[in-house]
Amino acid sequence: MTANNLNNYVGTLPEGCRLCEKGAKIVLFVTGICDKKCFYCPLSEKRKDRDIIWANERPVTVDEDIINEARRMNALGAGITGGDPGLKVDRTVSYIRMFKDIWPDFHIHMYTSSVLSIGTLKKMKKAGLDELRYHLLEERMWESIKDSVRLGIDTGIEIPALPGDEMRIIRIAERLESIGGNFLNLNELEFSERNLEHFKKRGYTLKSELSYAVKGSEESALKVMAACQDFNVHFCSSSFKDSIQLRNRLIRTAENVAKDFEVVSKDGLLLKGVITMENPDVRALDSLMADLKEEFEIPEDLMYLDRDKMRLETSIEVAKTLSKLNRKKGIKYMLVEEYPTFDRLETDVLPL
Ligand code: SF4
Repeated sequence: MTANNLNNYVGTLPEGCRLCEKGAKIVLFVTGICDKKCFYCPLSEKRKDRDIIWANERPVTVDEDIINEARRMNALGAGITGGDPGLKVDRTVSYIRMFKDIWPDFHIHMYTSSVLSIGTLKKMKKAGLDELRYHLLEERMWESIKDSVRLGIDTGIEIPALPGDEMRIIRIAERLESIGGNFLNLNELEFSERNLEHFKKRGYTLKSELSYAVKGSEESALKVMAACQDFNVHFCSSSFKDSIQLRNRLIRTAENVAKDFEVVSKDGLLLKGVITMENPDVRALDSLMADLKEEFEIPEDLMYLDRDKMRLETSIEVAKTLSKLNRKKGIKYMLVEEYPTFDRLETDVLPL
């Protein structure tokens, strides 16, 4: 068994997971629509049953949004998810084709909870789908899994590791291996707003106070891996998703988008100095920026007008210096730490 305390697997890690671990996969949420009713569904109210599209944290209205998001993070591939992408076949196929047209080596994996027909699988394969992960929910899905294997798509099953469910999962792994499937992915079960009541009814509890993971899920997965040493079984833990996948994606994005004056933290956040004014508008900010640059001889590329947040951004050093030399009514200086993601969520603001 290979492990780094957070990521456990036997055999070989699927290519989609390998790139995800590097933080190099854009997550393309193609729809919130799904006709299943899994008690463990982790989707938020904001997304569940809504036909909306997101590329990472960016809402998508046109294809360019997806391409720009992939460029921001210098993506090497995409994970297509939902809802159920299998219910939006044409849309999904067109995105797969779009990616492959721009980046022929892009690795694309996709999840589905649907029994995809051979015709649909062929369309997806032809568009360039590399890897398909079935969320196994019904017996008749096996025929589709076999078809996918026959067509030469890397085919796996991805399901949550329910506590105490190891014997059933071992049988699934054996059956998948016997038909030539490539891998079994087990996700650590996690509490979310939507599934909280269902989990409580089943007696599920938290693994620890520091995590949303369900106690007993990891144990199930470890038992499956111990019993399936000759197959490819991967356990994706809740802490692995947060501390490795997400962190690596943030670092990758931050390094790609950081302006010269921004510092990238070890967790992939952007640190910078910020200057705000009362009732800001573009003209007033532009004029303040020109005055500051001239009076304090600040190099051209060391200060920037952020029209989205209506403020000036600069280096930490410049903001600290100006906060001492240029205290004026209505002007405030601060140090800000924010995500490099599209929503640019601020995690810390320190007034100077
Ligand atoms: S198939 Fe997936 S999206 Fe649909 S209900 Fe189940 S967990 Fe939620």
